[in-house]
Amino acid sequence: MKKPKDVGVLLHLSRFCAPVIAAALLLAAAGPVSSADAFRAFLESLWPDAQALGVTRPVFDAAFKGLTPDLTLPDLVIEGRKRDDSAGQAEFTKSAMEYLNPKYLADLGAQGRTFLKAHEREIINIEKSTGVDRYILVAIWGRETAYGTQKDTRDAIQVLATQAYTGRRKDTFRNELLYALKMLQSGVPRAKMKSSWAGAVGLTQFMPTEYFSYAADGDGDGKADIFDSVPDALASAAHQLAGKGWLRGVRWGYEVTQPVRGDCSLEGPPGHRPIGEWNKLGYERAGPSRFRADELGIDAYLMMPSGAYGPAFLATENFQVIRRYNTSDLYALFVGNLADRIAGGGDFYTASASVQQPRTSQVKEIQERLIKAGYELEKTDGKIGSMTRRQVGTYQKKNGLKIDCWPTDAVLAHLRSTASLGEGGR
Ligand code: CA
Repeated sequence: MKKPKDVGVLLHLSRFCAPVIAAALLLAAAGPVSSADAFRAFLESLWPDAQALGVTRPVFDAAFKGLTPDLTLPDLVIEGRKRDDSAGQAEFTKSAMEYLNPKYLADLGAQGRTFLKAHEREIINIEKSTGVDRYILVAIWGRETAYGTQKDTRDAIQVLATQAYTGRRKDTFRNELLYALKMLQSGVPRAKMKSSWAGAVGLTQFMPTEYFSYAADGDGDGKADIFDSVPDALASAAHQLAGKGWLRGVRWGYEVTQPVRGDCSLEGPPGHRPIGEWNKLGYERAGPSRFRADELGIDAYLMMPSGAYGPAFLATENFQVIRRYNTSDLYALFVGNLADRIAGGGDFYTASASVQQPRTSQVKEIQERLIKAGYELEKTDGKIGSMTRRQVGTYQKKNGLKIDCWPTDAVLAHLRSTASLGEGGR
């Protein structure tokens, strides 16, 4: 059902275009949110803000002419529809090793070397001017669209309008939709505005707001074309990473071997310290390379995507920068490993054990119970991030459980059993 806030918008509008809106209001009050008139009224409500961004009425009307919401998209709020987490991004629904598929990464690595060679001159220039590592740039392109071979098929305007109308993050998508209109106004053809279900467009999957902040010319023709020019798309991605704080000359991170008494509960940004200190604690680079003297001062935190059941990494600030491109440890690891492969590297040195991926609801309950018990966690999102693993490990350590930093059945059972005993803080 529509929230009161949305009905308020309709009421406000009804003063201006009474007949249509009044009908829409009646439908909205009586019928489902998919009512065509209510959707039209929503689109019309965007006009003042679109106009303020410089969108003209003909462009506005053409963009929305005959548009209907696409209610098959994931992440919508529709009455009677159960939330389907499996429809969301792969970063959060696959286990670490499913996501970091070695065969797929090897293929992308080989292709990446070819593409790097094909665009080497421009990419080296982009690296020089922005400081962003050439291999990372090619890897982002590979991750986002498999070097342009995965074509978006959805109409971005329809996707953004639907998400803005009835998605879980309406306000975000409303803003993105306005900037998508601005893209049309600036001359981007509608036919180019194809997107994923989440509304990102172009070879490196830019959101429309990002387009206006970071789109750049990488091939020197004076235009920024993120749809058809590889150097432009990579230059745009480089500007975005630089804008989000990329540190020149610093790796994304390092796979490390842990000391015998390695402690997975040291994971997460709060445990950050210079690599030299990690080294003194017994953490060393996995494989034949060793930390160089000039790397010992670089700040890094421990990151173990499968808890104690897989490889460990020291993640630098640049790992966080990649996460700002797409907020997921696995996404950033994928890009980091692919970049290393393009540069001549290979698979991770430590294999991951096959670890059971707990249900979202189980992770959520563990998070809620940990917070209740005084453990520091910002979100109860059911996703197994660094902080969740860290606090699970801390809880296990404190309560004499097996320390694997994984939200297992055993952890949940223990949390439930102690809930009534007034378990204290961490
Ligand atoms: Ca260009």
